This record gives sequence, structure tokens and C-alpha cells, in this order.
Amino acid sequence: MSKKLNFNFDKSNLRNQNRYNFHINKYPNGMHMESKKLQKIHNEILQWYELNGRKYLPWRNLSGENAPYGVYVSEIMLQQTQVSTVLGKYYEPFLSEFPTLEALSNSDEERVLRLWRGLGYYSRASNMLKTAKICGKYLPSEPKELLKLPGIGEYSAGAIACFGFRKSVSFVDANIRRVLSRFFALKSPSMKELQKLAQKILNHQNSFDHNQALLDIGAMVCLPIDPKCKMCPLQNWCEGQGDALVYTQKKKITYESLSLNLGVCVFEDKIGLVKSQTSLYRGLYNFPKIVKTTEGGILNFPFLGEFKHSYTRYKLNIKAYLIMDADFLEKEIEFFGLNEFERLPMSKMALKVLDLIKEKEFFRSIV
Ligand code: SF4
Repeated sequence: MSKKLNFNFDKSNLRNQNRYNFHINKYPNGMHMESKKLQKIHNEILQWYELNGRKYLPWRNLSGENAPYGVYVSEIMLQQTQVSTVLGKYYEPFLSEFPTLEALSNSDEERVLRLWRGLGYYSRASNMLKTAKICGKYLPSEPKELLKLPGIGEYSAGAIACFGFRKSVSFVDANIRRVLSRFFALKSPSMKELQKLAQKILNHQNSFDHNQALLDIGAMVCLPIDPKCKMCPLQNWCEGQGDALVYTQKKKITYESLSLNLGVCVFEDKIGLVKSQTSLYRGLYNFPKIVKTTEGGILNFPFLGEFKHSYTRYKLNIKAYLIMDADFLEKEIEFFGLNEFERLPMSKMALKVLDLIKEKEFFRSIV
């Protein structure tokens, strides 16, 4: 049963705080945005957020001394991972196990990785543990100090400072990048240019809601392929609408296709796993690779099934075989009963192999 979270949920940030600044804001290229126009833009953004924003997300409703830590956990989990995935299975269990940064700092990598099972990009978990051990009880509040910590880049530092410590700072992630590029009709702006623009349009009176709204506009309205301009609070000022896709042409990503043969080695009702030492999966258990075959080749081994798996820039085609002799497999195999698998930190790839073998008659006796 999950423990109660040690957080207060603060409803005050759900209220719209319509106070605006009256400064002239200057763009990097010398243009100016009049304060009245900026005021209207801020107003529209906040009104839209009030009606449509994802204010229910638990990390947007934290208060108390652990709030920055709760925001930090969400920001790291959300790097490369969708909100629904983080919300469904990972955020609350992680905070139940480690309700404070100090609790995390007293943990070990295996415990942290276990909670990260299936979430991918496992270096995030290791970096969180390193950060907790460096900081002890509390995270620093300034972006430049946050940036010195493992796994925290420009975006995360700004987001933690703003959402966790209520600092009036701006930042740019992939969603905000898309919104700003279209809003200012910029074809290939540098990140530095976008960061300056984000700072120039920042609403200093309510940076929390302003930045959350920009994230939501990017995620819900200014969509990559099909922007919903008629529903957008920026439509009266957006220079890129009508031709929005021109301003966000994606760089082509080159994926590498790889094939991998994994062995499911059973010995006395236990199954062999290897603890990975490579940077991609360090500390996680995987099924061992088949490193040699008999004269008949790989087809001599009983075939269990295959599946596709994507990881960073790799597209893997994975085949699993039943192997009765561990000599054919990579070394350092440890054997575990299936009832022990639950407590092991395992990669998503290993969990897919596990699903595969659970369907097979041969494993019924040990499943
Ligand atoms: S008006 Fe359209 S293109 Fe411009 S920011 Fe809004 S959704 Fe994006």
C-alpha cells in the first residue's frame, strides 16, 4: 500500500493573478514589443490557462519545503517521457518511497533503479541519486547552481527554479521552442535567441502560470503537425500562423537498425540474467546476449519469439532463444527465481522478454 505523500497541495496558484508589468520589452534584434501589447498577450495566456491548462497535475500543486524536490522529480521523469506515463505509474510510487531529497540521498542505486523499471533513460535515475548525495537535504534555488548538478540542463534548471522555488525565470523546452519559433516566425532560431525571447515575454507577475501555460500551449494547441490556431490564445499576435509548419521543420533523425539475439537460460527452475555495465543500461538486469553458437548456427536453439524495441537512436529487432548451456552466453550470469524478478531493477527490453516467456508452455512450471 502506498504511503501518504509528504506534500501540501497549494490551491493558491490555481487563482489567476492578473497584475502586469508596464515595461517596454526589447527583442534581441532591436525590435520592441509595446507594454500594452505584451500586457494583452499575458492576459490572454493566463485566461487560457485558467480555463484549459493542466492545473490538476500533482507537481503543479505542491507547497511546503519539499515542493522543489517534488517538482525536481517530475522534471527529471518528464525528460523524454510522456506526462501520462509518468503520472500513471512512476511519480507517486517514487515519492512514496523517497518522500524527501534526504531520503533519496540515503538510498542506493539498485533501489532507485527498481522504481525506474520500464521508464527508460536510466542514467536519469543514477543522476538523481548523485544529485541527492551532493545536496543532502535541499536543492539549490538558483538556476546557475542547479546547472552544476548531474542530469540538470538549462531547461530543467529554469523549470525547477520557477515551478519549485517560484523564481521569475524563463526557459525553453521542445514545446516552448515550437511555440516561440512560430509566434515570432523564426525559421531556424538558435537556442540562445529563443531563450532571450522567452525572457522578454516572461510575465514577471505570475511566471509560474505563464510558463506552465506556454508548456501546455505547446503540448495541446501548437501541435507539431496540426496546430490548432483557432483555439490558441496567441492567435491575434502570432506571426507564423497560417504557415506554421515552415517555422518548425524537423531535422531528420538517423536511426540505426540492430539485431540482438538474447538467451533465456534456465537452471533448476531459475532464469539467468546479467547486470549490465554499459552506459545505456548500467546497473540494470538484462537477459544475456548469445555470444557463440554451435556449427548449425543460431537456428539450433529453440526459438521463443521476437519483438521490436526502440532505444534512443537505435531500432532493435530482438530474438529470444532457449539456451540450456550458459557457455553460449555472455559471462557473469546470476540466476533468479521468477518470484525474485519483481524486486530487480530491469530494463524495459528485459521486461518484454519476460512477457514473451510467460506465454510459453515450457515456463508454466516456474512462472
Ligand atoms: S497561433 Fe497557431 S502557430 Fe501561432 S502559436 Fe498559436 S497554435 Fe502555434
